[in-house]
Amino acid sequence: MKRLISLFSLLLAAGCSGDAQPDRPSVVLVICDTWRSDAVSSAGGAEGLTPYVDRLSAEGVRFTELRGHAPWTLPSIASILTSLHPIEHGAGGQVGKFRRMADGVTTLAHAFADGGYRTHAVVNVDFLDPAKFGVTRGFETVDVQSYDNNREVRAARATTEAALRWIEEEAGDEPFFLLVHYFDPHCVYAPPGAFRERWAAPEDRESDWTFGTREQMIAIRTGRLTPGADTIRRAKHLYDGEVAYFDAEFGRLTDRLRASRGSSETVIALTADHGEEFLEHGGFEHGHTLFEELVHLPLVIHAPGRLVPGVVEAPARHIDLAPTLLELCDLPAPGQFVGRSLLPLTRGEGGPPRGTLAHGNFWRSPLTSWVSDGWKLIEQDGAPPLLFDLRRDPGEQRNLAGEAVEQLARLRGELRAVEAGMAALGSGSAASLDEATRRRLEALGYGGATEQDAAPDSR
Ligand SMILES: [Zn+2]
Repeated sequence: MKRLISLFSLLLAAGCSGDAQPDRPSVVLVICDTWRSDAVSSAGGAEGLTPYVDRLSAEGVRFTELRGHAPWTLPSIASILTSLHPIEHGAGGQVGKFRRMADGVTTLAHAFADGGYRTHAVVNVDFLDPAKFGVTRGFETVDVQSYDNNREVRAARATTEAALRWIEEEAGDEPFFLLVHYFDPHCVYAPPGAFRERWAAPEDRESDWTFGTREQMIAIRTGRLTPGADTIRRAKHLYDGEVAYFDAEFGRLTDRLRASRGSSETVIALTADHGEEFLEHGGFEHGHTLFEELVHLPLVIHAPGRLVPGVVEAPARHIDLAPTLLELCDLPAPGQFVGRSLLPLTRGEGGPPRGTLAHGNFWRSPLTSWVSDGWKLIEQDGAPPLLFDLRRDPGEQRNLAGEAVEQLARLRGELRAVEAGMAALGSGSAASLDEATRRRLEALGYGGATEQDAAPDSR
């Protein structure tokens, strides 16, 4: 009913103004895998690392306090595309026990398709195969590529080419919703030539040293390999090279979009699914904790003529992104969505607080975190709680659970209330994977060691 009313209003508005076509921009949602919030030059990262992201940020709205809802790809991207928490959409699980999204869940792609949009996704991991995990359900077409070796994953250049090919050859004149997923900053870190030469540690610029192969990840998880600080320093340099490579290809995509469609005809939203750990809390990679290096993420929305450029420092959540994009296109959000549009924040309006719930753990018993009014609680069965004052201690180095007892009680009370109000939309079912898919996910590091084998929790 909501949608009918909205469409009726649009038609009325169009009739009154004599404009037969309501103004509906196309939308490109770019998700860069494994991209930390501080791997952005304009957000405190290395100078010159992300010139194209910085340009988009200067012309758009940058959110400094965006958090995701899970520390790994499957549940996190499901939350972006469904405006639901992992407990609600059901996608996720643990290594060897992956769960596909619950059948009744409506996605952002469904909402755009219902609004008359063409929809397409260019994605680079089996977790985003609609037939296997359901997360990209609702897209008209999905170009998913996955490989047997994590060194052969479709790189940023080919990903940009695939996106541009669809825009220029398939999209036609109708407004479209396009999801583009870049995988490059994910292990293994092996930036191409010019990006290695600029960003690798000096001793690695002329070599072909890489880090983060499947064998290395399993050895780390099982405690057989403990990378030293110097190895992680060199790995972080290569990671930066991958981010710079992504940025360059993201720039090529946006430049071509501007040239072919004009900058006001396309809304561009840019975020990451999760970050990456480089020993900040003793761990490496992602999926195993809910610290800020994994769930505090970049978000930029570029919508000239629709959004006044600026910086939003109020808390924002991944579940809020889908309703925001729909509102920018005058389309209604499905009733199932639980996030709230971020547009009021871009106008400086406050509104109810946006506490952020995150959930999941790739190997051991699930972790839950709750961020509210500058404080963060992390809980895990059988472990004492962790409590951080994010304003004074953004790096989460000082656990205040033993001394800030009032804040601990407040956050625990809020978390219990939020959990009590949540309903799973039918639990996600166990994903049944063919042998080739299981092997490919293992090659990316998602498998090959059991929970019992895994190293003790790094925190
Ligand atoms: Zn990911």
